[in-house]
Amino acid sequence: MPLGHDLAPSLQELQSLAAEVGRSTVAPRAAEVDRGAVWPTESLGALGEAGLLGLHVDRELGGRGEGMYALALVTEELGRFCGSTGLVYGMHCVGSKLVAASATPDQRERYLVPIASGEHITTLALSEPGTGIHFYLPRTTFRPEGDHLTVNGQKSFVTSGGHADSYVLSVVREDSELDPGTFSCLLLDADTPGSTWSGEWDGLGMRGNSSRSLELVDAPVPVANLLGAEGDETWFVFEIVAPYFIVAMAGTYLGIARSALEAAIEQLRGRTYTHTADQLGQFDTVAHRLGELWSIVERTRQLVHHAARLGDAGDARARPALFAAKAEVADAVVRVTNDAMTLVGGIGYGRDGDLGRALRDARASHVMSPTTDLLKTWLGRSLLDLPLL
Ligand SMILES: Cc1cc2nc3c(=O)[nH]c(=O)nc-3n(C[C@H](O)[C@H](O)[C@H](O)COP(=O)(O)OP(=O)(O)OC[C@H]3O[C@@H](n4cnc5c(N)ncnc54)[C@H](O)[C@@H]3O)c2cc1C
Repeated sequence: MPLGHDLAPSLQELQSLAAEVGRSTVAPRAAEVDRGAVWPTESLGALGEAGLLGLHVDRELGGRGEGMYALALVTEELGRFCGSTGLVYGMHCVGSKLVAASATPDQRERYLVPIASGEHITTLALSEPGTGIHFYLPRTTFRPEGDHLTVNGQKSFVTSGGHADSYVLSVVREDSELDPGTFSCLLLDADTPGSTWSGEWDGLGMRGNSSRSLELVDAPVPVANLLGAEGDETWFVFEIVAPYFIVAMAGTYLGIARSALEAAIEQLRGRTYTHTADQLGQFDTVAHRLGELWSIVERTRQLVHHAARLGDAGDARARPALFAAKAEVADAVVRVTNDAMTLVGGIGYGRDGDLGRALRDARASHVMSPTTDLLKTWLGRSLLDLPLL
């Protein structure tokens, strides 16, 4: 696998560090995380100890000050060993980037410093049952009351629900016009009164991500927890949330596709027939199919990396490339995990096997918003200079 050949030494180091945590801590727990739908506590702890939770936090606060390219590299290494861990970590990174992009001095001390030192996990709570994939249309409201905001509403599919230390929540003012994209974001601390979690996550895949529902009834959130100025956050969707989320998910699903490809290569090398002493991989059709899978993974990786680098450079061409990257990854990971299982054969079809987990985890790629259809629509609209929302 021609990985990392063109990476700067610092990024190579980061990639190796993520791979090391992945091999030593994430991989041995992946089957249990999946089987028992267990949130990956130890793996997140190890990522904190390795200094990877502060990927997007400024260096002066103890973080790594990295951008989207680094996020793509790290999430691929984690997704390769455990999709749920990649997802949980990715959501933490998007949440922490959102905080880092607009933090007040007080928020830097209370949130970014502990995130950088590996003691604080955050996540995104944007989706709502009423608006579904349209995560940019929150109906959860806030009402300013003295030094706090009173928050009411419901959030759904909150990754790390009940486990994170804080939640980046999208909200609209109670009496607002509800224009698309004109929401505000605030940080909800885990122990806020009036917040109740419901339902245990029992997904087909991504079983360790603890996607749960949150109900907020007159939850008091300090005004000091508002991210950016109220109503000033239209840029959140397309400048921070969508790009970083897309890259985090693209990296994670790419890692899952890679794990399936690697499993297929191992099996095609190791499987030998007793009646001919031939290796399975010696059959041309089998080798041809493997070649196709490699090409899919590699060209998708190149698109993800290209999009992430454009994003880091603030290049206007980043937007369509990013939209295309997650859409392509979703198609790629479903195809690669599915075809890898065919190649590996009956041995890969075991109920608790790594390939089965990869196949189930992969399917979430099309469901998570921005979904593939939504991304392709945004892509087309951006090429036509039409408003995205
Ligand atoms: C494993 C997992 C983790 C998640 N983690 C988080 C998280 O951490 N934070 C968070 O905020 N959310 C999270 N989500 C929520 C996710 O991003 C989606 O918002 C959620 O899955 C939408 O589900 P829904 O059934 O309400 O979709 P619906 O809105 O009902 O959509 C159903 C289907 O219809 C399609 N559809 C809808 N409208 C259109 C249209 N106009 N054109 C074409 N197709 C359309 C959608 O693409 C989708 O395929 C997570 C979801 C999953 C599965």
